Amino acid sequence: MDMDALTATLQMELPVASEKMTLGIARDGLVIVDVVNGFATTGGGNLAPLVENAQVAATVAESDRLARRFTQQGWPVLALLDTHEPGKPEPPYPPHCEVGTGEEELVPALKWLEDAEGATLIRKDCINGFVGAIDAAGQNQVVAWVNEHGLENILVTGLCTDICVMDFVLTMLSARNHGLMPSCRDIFVHQGACATYDLPRAALESLALPATAHHPQALTHHMGLYFMAARGARIVGDVAIDS
Ligand SMILES: [Zn+2]
Repeated sequence: MDMDALTATLQMELPVASEKMTLGIARDGLVIVDVVNGFATTGGGNLAPLVENAQVAATVAESDRLARRFTQQGWPVLALLDTHEPGKPEPPYPPHCEVGTGEEELVPALKWLEDAEGATLIRKDCINGFVGAIDAAGQNQVVAWVNEHGLENILVTGLCTDICVMDFVLTMLSARNHGLMPSCRDIFVHQGACATYDLPRAALESLALPATAHHPQALTHHMGLYFMAARGARIVGDVAIDS
């Protein structure tokens, strides 16, 4: 079946509506999920794009643009970085983002965040950044960050829409509803600054992977957005700044 037609059918049957978000009215925080070399730099590793990918490139560019605006305004930015101990697997995925490979580092466009005032970097060794942010003492570093800044709105960008972004956002919605972050009102997901990977049928056959590994980018990106919206996340199509 034609993928464009299928994506259009999906949008009709499982619609995702986006809205314009205006920053600067409430206390806003930005969370950038896994924009690391191992996922976002072309040829950067087992789980990185093999060829330049427009959705991934847009995610990097828009995450950088937003992070610069946030830090200029003195608003907090948090980056989650997928990082694994070498040799310790994360099933069902092949080795990726192992310490010392460079895959676990922010992409070149976002590297400046390492030294930026107002930026917090959290390394995590599992898909769900909320779980990965629980430290050895049992404290959740994301919850602490939200509460420290009294954040009302959290805007999320990054990779992958239907994997690490979705798990994080869905768990944040539950954590908010459970009262762990009293100031938190809404979790926003920027649809133009999220991306997922593309593993179409033809690629599966050449890689000798099972049919269940089929992961067409446009469909899975849409499905990720749909499930987040269905659980109460607000999907953002455009971001403006109140000035
Ligand atoms: Zn990982």
